[in-house]
Amino acid sequence: MISVVEPATEQTMAKIPRAGIEELDSAVDRARAAFPGWRAVSPGDRAALIHRLAEALEAQIEDLATLEARNVGKPISDARGEMEMVVATYRYYAAAPERLLGHTIPVAGGVDMTFREPLGVVGLIVPWNFPLVIASWKVAPALAAGNTVVLKPAELTPLTALELERIAVEAGIPEGVLNVVVGPGSVVGRRLVEHPDVAKIAFTGSTEVGRGIAAGAAATIKRVTLELGGKSANVIFADADLEAAAAAAPGAVFANAGQDCCARSRILVERTAIDPFMTALERAVAAMRVGDPLEEATQMGPLISADQRETVASFVPEDAPVAFRGPTPGGAGYWYPPTVLAPVSNHDRAAREEIFGPVACVIPFEDEREAVAIANDTVYGLSGSIWTRDGARALRVARAIETGVISINSNSSVRVSTPFGGFKQSGFGRELGPDALDAYTEVKNVFYATEED
Ligand code: NDP
Repeated sequence: MISVVEPATEQTMAKIPRAGIEELDSAVDRARAAFPGWRAVSPGDRAALIHRLAEALEAQIEDLATLEARNVGKPISDARGEMEMVVATYRYYAAAPERLLGHTIPVAGGVDMTFREPLGVVGLIVPWNFPLVIASWKVAPALAAGNTVVLKPAELTPLTALELERIAVEAGIPEGVLNVVVGPGSVVGRRLVEHPDVAKIAFTGSTEVGRGIAAGAAATIKRVTLELGGKSANVIFADADLEAAAAAAPGAVFANAGQDCCARSRILVERTAIDPFMTALERAVAAMRVGDPLEEATQMGPLISADQRETVASFVPEDAPVAFRGPTPGGAGYWYPPTVLAPVSNHDRAAREEIFGPVACVIPFEDEREAVAIANDTVYGLSGSIWTRDGARALRVARAIETGVISINSNSSVRVSTPFGGFKQSGFGRELGPDALDAYTEVKNVFYATEED
């Protein structure tokens, strides 16, 4: 059995059976059996069923948000926002079955046309930091395109995925179309990657596991999309609205207790603005509300586990340049205070590796050229921000930074209708927006000869 733990109390909140290879294989068999029927559902009916799923989820937002907040230890207000995004994601992709358009291409001797065909059974492997929202970024376009799904949530946070499976059946999605298997990544995740009847793996998680998945998928030439780690830069020029940049910076790295692949964990500040920026940042960090995830005002909860806290703490040794820290409650729970290290060199371990906890590095820079060079001096390229009042520079730097998603005078990363994904070792493929459907379809070309004998 798996004991599902509530990170804010360290108490077990549920016990669920642990699946192994046999259960995974059965789920793939069910998905395979359901595929011909699901792909044959007419586009309008498939759209209607996904709309019904969105409605059923919407009716349970509060329960789902509470479950997610307790299981991940994330603030209830964040969890509610995530559940709203889950609903919006199904609504967005409910429009897709009727819009999976092909081309007609002028050729000699006949008519040439293309179709966007589903892949078959797709395997989805998701992490514990945003369990249901990341699962839904994958499930919604996969189902809309006519695929059937085997979803493997992280063992630490399986509860909302199991709810999704139940709600989908209640909403009328046929049995076998969406299957959830809860078991260890090294066993059932691995089997899903290697299974000959699985056509594609979409994965979100660590770069290290992503590398293994790409290698494992090679044996059967599976399609793979990978959304991996990040070490994103929040670049603050001296001409920016420094108060606004400093007020927003804690949320951009300490939200979800820093367990966010988009965390702007490297705060690059133009040297002439360091003093006023740090003063404003210290004020913002001190004002953060860290505590019970179920309190409405809470902005940051605990880390997911004792192991994660140990890993995070290893980035802040005795002699680390701690500039200041935010509050943290005592007692049970995997708490770690919001921590700002400054000044940090981009060569330091804390600036190079994904910490996945509430630790930010402040790195000074001299000019635009150096800012871009530091921002790009990382194996990752997922997210980032630029703060400046100079519009031309904002766009110049946005184009120069090697990253999949970047915001100007904002720290937003994801929207349902816009593409999300990484450059470099942050992965490949795009989720959300219109591009995600490319990852769940194959283009088929059909030529029909029309010449008379
Ligand atoms: P993992 O990458 O190990 O886990 C992500 C998912 O992959 C989980 O469902 C996990 O299953 C599964 N998995 C693990 N091993 C395999 C495998 N060999 N084959 C197939 N699936 C597998 O992340 P961790 O939870 O271990 O977190 C470690 C670090 O990874 C974090 O500290 C952070 O740095 C990074 N991370 C990054 C994320 C991101 O969004 N970029 C998300 C999560 C982690 P299970 O856990 O059930 O065994």
